[in-house]
Amino acid sequence: MASDGFPSPRFFVLDDGLSGEHDTQFDTIEPANLGDAPRCPECGTLLGMLTWLPPYRVELELHGEQPGDFVTGPGGDSFLISERMATAFQAERLTGLQGLHFVEICRVRRRRKGSIPSVAPRYLCVTACFGRAYLDEQRSRLRYAEARTCPECRSADLDTIHGFVLEPGTWADEDVFRARGLPGVRIVSERFAGFVARHGLTNMKLIPTEEYIWDPRRLGPPSAPSGI
Ligand SMILES: [Zn+2]
Repeated sequence: MASDGFPSPRFFVLDDGLSGEHDTQFDTIEPANLGDAPRCPECGTLLGMLTWLPPYRVELELHGEQPGDFVTGPGGDSFLISERMATAFQAERLTGLQGLHFVEICRVRRRRKGSIPSVAPRYLCVTACFGRAYLDEQRSRLRYAEARTCPECRSADLDTIHGFVLEPGTWADEDVFRARGLPGVRIVSERFAGFVARHGLTNMKLIPTEEYIWDPRRLGPPSAPSGI
């Protein structure tokens, strides 16, 4: 699809800040209550991990100096955001986060020297929605173990990602979402990136999708633009 003359919206992969001043992770308190994993309504392919269900009880692990605003851990595809981030997200009418349930922090552990903060922020459990946007296989740099067959979920067994873009015109304006063909990656809008910067939200790394690399077996980038 041609997009000449119209600048394409930019997207970022939302990842952990890791090893920064606000490096924070969580662990679920066992036994965690898990439900079915999401599946494609058309072909039944698994699109995520088992769903984390209430009660949301966690242990917070502080690796940095201060608790961060964005916290990942086990708990299916869910992650935690601070109350301050959740309040601002809603006040600015950003979209795409589902859940928004408060979690109970049962313990706070500090992984390096220092005292545990007397007041840890409150956190909410959220999940990125499944958006309608899908992976542009022609303009992305991908390696496939098995190419996609389902037109709904567009699931494919990917071996590597060395930068990706979304098919122009398929994005439904969500600020946080998972794309068809790439359900394991949290994608955010340029508006979300501005929101993070404006509020000084922490423990997040926003990687332009064109620069995102996922290559667990170190196979390297594909030789052709399309990996099929
Ligand atoms: Zn499907």
